[in-house]
Amino acid sequence: MSNTAKIILAAAAAAAIALAAVAAPPKVVAHRGFWKTEGSAQNSIASLVKADSVGAFGSEFDVWLAADSNLVVNHNRVFRGVDMPLCRGVEARAVRLDNGENLPSLDQYLAAAAQLPRMRAVLELKTEGDTARENLACRMVSQMLRRYGLENRTDFISFSINACRTFHRLEPGIPVFYLGGDIGPDDLHADGLAGGDYSWRTIQKNPQWIDRAHALGMEINVWTVDDPEVMRQLIDMGADYITTNRPDLLQTVIAESAR
Ligand code: MG
Repeated sequence: MSNTAKIILAAAAAAAIALAAVAAPPKVVAHRGFWKTEGSAQNSIASLVKADSVGAFGSEFDVWLAADSNLVVNHNRVFRGVDMPLCRGVEARAVRLDNGENLPSLDQYLAAAAQLPRMRAVLELKTEGDTARENLACRMVSQMLRRYGLENRTDFISFSINACRTFHRLEPGIPVFYLGGDIGPDDLHADGLAGGDYSWRTIQKNPQWIDRAHALGMEINVWTVDDPEVMRQLIDMGADYITTNRPDLLQTVIAESAR
């Protein structure tokens, strides 16, 4: 090899190392939308619109299958006296949120998301462990995402590994991330999932899971991170997504870490 070729090769290797060291910053996912702001509430349509207006990459929200097989958007199983998996959809939708909105149906929520073309929908399916109900919910979510043309900008997440596997079989093109800390990247990869969506405590206990996921061609989302010090650690570790109640703060921390 000529000296010139050696120099070119060395320069290419140095550039590759420099590129690897400057990994892309994590993408910002607003947890239950951007709700820590005026006029918003967790899992409200306003929180989705506000996550978009502050430039978050994605907005996370929680979905329950009501007893009459309507899908509704809410976090807690029981909210203002209404038990999501045991109620009728109309009863859930009668609940008033803190910002005056009614609790949205998934249909209403996805209709709003369809109007926000930059926004990635991070849809968490909440379940009570009834496999048949989970499978029905997966089929209905799949159909509804397609009705609104959202199948190319949605991630599906769940604490139920059955729901994750079922949804992946139905929609192999939609990334699925498992939320529990009890399954590492290798087993999620064997199930064909896109990655892990782990609590920051799980990642502190298993910091090698980020590099391992990347080696497998997978991604890691980390929840729910509102502490700037933990945000900085996860940026340095190369987390792909950070889910936070403070998308505004995370954006500032990312901007500062890039300097
Ligand atoms: Mg959630």
